[in-house]
Amino acid sequence: MLVDRYDRVIDYLRISVTQNCNFRCLYCMPKIPFDEKINENLLSFDELFLFVKVAIDAGVRKIRITGGEPLLRKDLHKFIKMIFEYKNSIDLALTTNGFLLQNQAKLLKEAGLKRVNISLDSLHAKKLIKISQKDILKDVMQGINAALSEGFLVKLNCVALKGLNDDEICDLLEFAKAKNIQIRFIEFMENTHAYGQLQGLKADEILKLLSQKYKVQALEKSLNAPVSLYKADDYTFGIIDPHSHEFCDTCNRIRLTADGLLVPCLYFDEALSIRKAVKQGDIDAASKILQSVIENKPEKNKWSIKANERSTRAFYQTGG
Ligand code: SAM
Ligand code: SF4
Repeated sequence: MLVDRYDRVIDYLRISVTQNCNFRCLYCMPKIPFDEKINENLLSFDELFLFVKVAIDAGVRKIRITGGEPLLRKDLHKFIKMIFEYKNSIDLALTTNGFLLQNQAKLLKEAGLKRVNISLDSLHAKKLIKISQKDILKDVMQGINAALSEGFLVKLNCVALKGLNDDEICDLLEFAKAKNIQIRFIEFMENTHAYGQLQGLKADEILKLLSQKYKVQALEKSLNAPVSLYKADDYTFGIIDPHSHEFCDTCNRIRLTADGLLVPCLYFDEALSIRKAVKQGDIDAASKILQSVIENKPEKNKWSIKANERSTRAFYQTGG
């Protein structure tokens, strides 16, 4: 079992398999031109898998594949299959923008993937073009439907943004409810990579909008999960609310970037690289780095929304 200095059990590894993306969401990577590829020293799936085995043997029970856009990574299903065949009880999940999901859903399901979170910020093509800077509605919808047809446990992620999708919060909830899946509204987290003028809705503002149409009730918060759950009438939805809640007390996560940086906390600069260890096939060294990162996991993150202290760590680097 992996336990840090603050008695938190760390059993959740998020792996970003690429920083690159086929969208340019205003809250994530709006300033990088579409034709510019981020130069990254990707670890191979075999190298990532060596670390995955070390982490599972040490006590990791949940793995989420993320990015950038993880479905851009060729043959992602093969990596999923490696993990599943090593330990099929691992809670194996994917976070994707859904654009390429239609063609990959079946392969991913057969490989052993269990859950898929798909980002959906609007139900209108033109608004999605504004938010992601690309015409995506049709493909994302097809991706959502393909994931449901394959029998994945699906959740929707929606970053709630003032003047962009704040008039659609009820419609997005209705859409998810009709599909019998959970939607989670995410508070925009300010960072230096996001579009500067962007303003997110805070949890209380989201709840106020929903309360105009539904009887909204808070449910008990589950341990470890950064999401606060609510009922809108009889439908359960979530809000990921970093502005209102500290997740740190019950944090169970560490993150691995595509080039091998093991990050103890989303908003904390100290991280150690497993790159050399996995390239040399050195399991002991990888294991020591894992222990050291857990030991040095900070008590609290250093995220700040103040303009002059704003985090320089991008969501597309660490996978959110
Ligand atoms: N490309 C995939 C996607 O968009 O689902 C996976 C990577 S993305 C970085 C993971 C999640 O982070 C998405 O749900 C996205 O909406 C969220 N995200 C990105 N930037 C954010 C920000 N500044 N504040 C809040 N959530 C953000
Ligand atoms: Fe790409 Fe996801 Fe970032 Fe949007 S949030 S730019 S889809 S990595």
